[in-house]
Amino acid sequence: MDIMPIKAIIGKLSDNKKEAIMRKKLELLKTQSEFKKIGIEELPKTRDDIQLFETANILTNALISKFGLPSLDISSNVFHVVKEEDRWRVHFYLGENTCGCLGFFDSKSQMIMFLEEFNGLSYYKKLDSLIHEILHLKSYQSLQIKRGGKESCYRNGLTIKGSYFRAIDEALTQTTADLLVSKSTGRDYEGISYKKEKYILETLICGIFNKNLERFKDKNEVFDMFLRAYFTGNVMPLARIIKKTFGYDAFGFAAKHDFNFLLEDAMIS
Ligand SMILES: [Zn+2]
Repeated sequence: MDIMPIKAIIGKLSDNKKEAIMRKKLELLKTQSEFKKIGIEELPKTRDDIQLFETANILTNALISKFGLPSLDISSNVFHVVKEEDRWRVHFYLGENTCGCLGFFDSKSQMIMFLEEFNGLSYYKKLDSLIHEILHLKSYQSLQIKRGGKESCYRNGLTIKGSYFRAIDEALTQTTADLLVSKSTGRDYEGISYKKEKYILETLICGIFNKNLERFKDKNEVFDMFLRAYFTGNVMPLARIIKKTFGYDAFGFAAKHDFNFLLEDAMIS
């Protein structure tokens, strides 16, 4: 059975039409045919980079199997390295400002892209960047189809509609990438990206753990609860524990403010 990268389609369409869209996205993932539409040159990949990609694919598959999910095997043709000067073409194609990002994953086209700065990164940083984007690809993805057929990314990991929970989603992605790089290389690794977001996630996990000692053995169990929601798409257990810990409205408030309030608030001791 084919493993689909998009797990659900939101919209008033028949099941057959939804299935056809999901199949089309699987084809895009395999063929990467959307890349040609941007009309830019792709920089060549080295054999070492392809090998690193394969390592990242194996590490992320082992992680998702922990949550009962089947492997999603992807080939190194899903990532494209492009020139810095072509960044704007990519912006226009994605309809999104990617300034400040070295790499990005686009759900609609099923592509991972890096700017040429990627080629100059160290072994560890390259592995980290590849794992980070592959995690976005393997986390829960759903698409929304609006009237007239316009598509938009509805869920990607914990992110809803491209903005809600985005910071916490990036924190989770980067913390997981750090852990997988450390595991694979046998030395402690911490990437420099998303420091503030990772701090918020850590604060959140500590808060949940400290106020639910009867439920969790250690903080890793709380972390895994976030990861389970990120990969399976089922956020209900996470929403329930956040409401129980911080109050009934906390989950909805957090969606809008991305847990930033935890940094200022005395809710966490
Ligand atoms: Zn990211």
